[in-house]
Amino acid sequence: MKKYWLLFVVTLLFIRSLWAVEGMWLPILLKEINEKEMKAMGMRISAEDLYSINRSSLKDAVFLFGGGCTSEIISSQGLLLTNHHCGYGQIQSHSSLKNDYLKYGFWAKSLKDELPNKGLTATRIVRMENVTDDVLKGAIKSDGTLEQSIVDANSKRIAQQSVQGTHYEASVKPFYYGNEYYLFITETFKDIRLVGTPPSFIGKFGGDTDNWMWPRHTGDFAVFRIYAGVDNKPAEYSENNVPYKPLHHFPISLKGVQPNDFTLVYGFPGRTQQYLPSAMVKLTMNDLNPIRIQIRQKALSVIDKAMASSDELRIKYAAKQSRISNAYKKWIGENRGLKKLDAIRIKQEWESRYLQAVKGTPYESLVQQFNNLVENFRPYALANDYYNEFIFSGPEIIRYTNNYVKFIKSYQELKSKGELDKQIQALKSSAEGYFKNYDKEVDRQIMLAVLPVFTSGLDVEMFPQVLKDELSKYKNDIPAMTNSLYATTLFADKNKILGWLENVNEKSIKKMMADPMYKITDNLYQTYQDKIDKVYKEYFDKIQTAMFAFLKSLRKYLPNDRRYYPDANSTLRVSYGKVEGYSPKDGIVYHWQTTVDGIIQKYIPNDTEFDLDQRFIDLYKNKDYGRYGSNGTLPVAFTASNHTTGGNSGSPVLNANGHLIGINFDRAWESTMSDIMYDPERCRNIICDIRYVLWVIDKYADATHLVNEMTIIE
Ligand code: ASP
Repeated sequence: MKKYWLLFVVTLLFIRSLWAVEGMWLPILLKEINEKEMKAMGMRISAEDLYSINRSSLKDAVFLFGGGCTSEIISSQGLLLTNHHCGYGQIQSHSSLKNDYLKYGFWAKSLKDELPNKGLTATRIVRMENVTDDVLKGAIKSDGTLEQSIVDANSKRIAQQSVQGTHYEASVKPFYYGNEYYLFITETFKDIRLVGTPPSFIGKFGGDTDNWMWPRHTGDFAVFRIYAGVDNKPAEYSENNVPYKPLHHFPISLKGVQPNDFTLVYGFPGRTQQYLPSAMVKLTMNDLNPIRIQIRQKALSVIDKAMASSDELRIKYAAKQSRISNAYKKWIGENRGLKKLDAIRIKQEWESRYLQAVKGTPYESLVQQFNNLVENFRPYALANDYYNEFIFSGPEIIRYTNNYVKFIKSYQELKSKGELDKQIQALKSSAEGYFKNYDKEVDRQIMLAVLPVFTSGLDVEMFPQVLKDELSKYKNDIPAMTNSLYATTLFADKNKILGWLENVNEKSIKKMMADPMYKITDNLYQTYQDKIDKVYKEYFDKIQTAMFAFLKSLRKYLPNDRRYYPDANSTLRVSYGKVEGYSPKDGIVYHWQTTVDGIIQKYIPNDTEFDLDQRFIDLYKNKDYGRYGSNGTLPVAFTASNHTTGGNSGSPVLNANGHLIGINFDRAWESTMSDIMYDPERCRNIICDIRYVLWVIDKYADATHLVNEMTIIE
């Protein structure tokens, strides 16, 4: 008897570990590949409920938010829920010292108070289709590789034909490194308004200290609304637009979750690289991530200090700081996780199995090819990251100056086409936007912090000559050169730039071109183009070609080695798993849930990351949780074993019935290597419990009218 019990328990444990399901699956293939397993795990709806082209389905309530997040519809009036950190740029741009929505939050009292957001879009997938055969027609060369120009031309034609006569858009995207292709028909809405956001002490509670961490207590949500023309179709912003009437909106469950409950994340994961060979993983771990981390750490050391010093600087740099610090901390976690997993050894063992399986086939030398390619690619990959990080996480003045380099280079052409005035106007208005969030002194200090890393790390062969010459004028004294540059340049001063734009002519152009900042920038971008970008792209393409062959042969010769879901590529995916905690290290087991009690435990009065306001504290003291409370407290967040990545931010998290139970917003730090290697034991996504979201809207913010729009299941 005892023996059978043991067997039973062992079997249960085995099944349990299978419940953390690796993979981001294509909605269109769920029926074929996943439905059975999902149902065995507890799902009560069908694959057809999740994705159907014959009737409205859950996918119709899932929207790509802007370029890189996910959002979901939660009312019949187009109310859209996403993360606070996804709407952060918009919230920041509406904020000023007078209307500090970042600090105090914002809630529109009625439709007319909802705030438009220039350039923000929300995109729905109308349908998708496997078009592999059509795309590859005539594109496979005799050596088995692809003629990319034919792939591109076929893709373009298929996309164009598929939306003729409709207001939809279409694109064809490669999967499995070009082994398969899917067509996506999309509908993009262009009038998306901000309805409400909690104050930062809720939406960003815990700040960078808690970002990527569990246990977590962040109310990471914001509310928007999609507006459409009176015909319910996408329209540019207009006062006459009306709230969009969706095909589906998610009912919201207040029933809560329990450990082992089925969970599903529906969203647009951005990028994963599960099939990288060991040489690429090594390059990422040992070379690329450290460069990125080092440069960002330097920039953040300046920005964080500046933001703490004044409200004005806090508002100016909030969105930039978030962007830089988010990936910075992720890469640190990713490297630790890969090391802990012994990822390189695991990959090498996998390669040995592969080599065994492809013996005697044309793929025999592929692993060696990768090793050689990566060795040659390495110096360019390093330089590419030095340049990119310097330009995009370093001083902004370089990027800004480059707008003028481009303008001056196209001056004659613009003039002859009669487009000069239009372009000058555009530069004027971009100057307004740019300088609103710019501080010369902060930028100078960023340059002082970051430039030494750039100059000392970059390969001498790839060093920009003008910067080198300029530095030698100052005996390689970086502070002396930097201070002098910022003291004299046109580009750090709004009035000087606007003044220059008032009178653009050959003479003023000459003057601008003599500005050392202009010369450095021009040469920096040019050096990148000439010495790095070209070769980098050549190697990158060669690696992609090798990956195409690798994936093709892996699926053919090692079909049962693992499940070959396609890497994330910002297309609509489903991840499923269970509510569960994890053990980050020996002796520690993390609970799967946090509550408002933890917020109070973390509270540090007047701290930039862990402060609260009196209203919040009073509601807590009165235990005023209404219907959102459970067991005498208020649930705030929980973890589950859904395989997610960046882009899944804001994704709806659904229960077995397809009802909304939370918003996905993060992963635990120990999980961030899941972009490269997933570990079912430790990879957990972090979800803001929908009951906390509604409590904040209803009880804290008094925006009950919004809750009244929703379909609530108690
Ligand atoms: N918090 C993450 C992001 O910023 C989401 C994730 O990567 O899991 O995109």
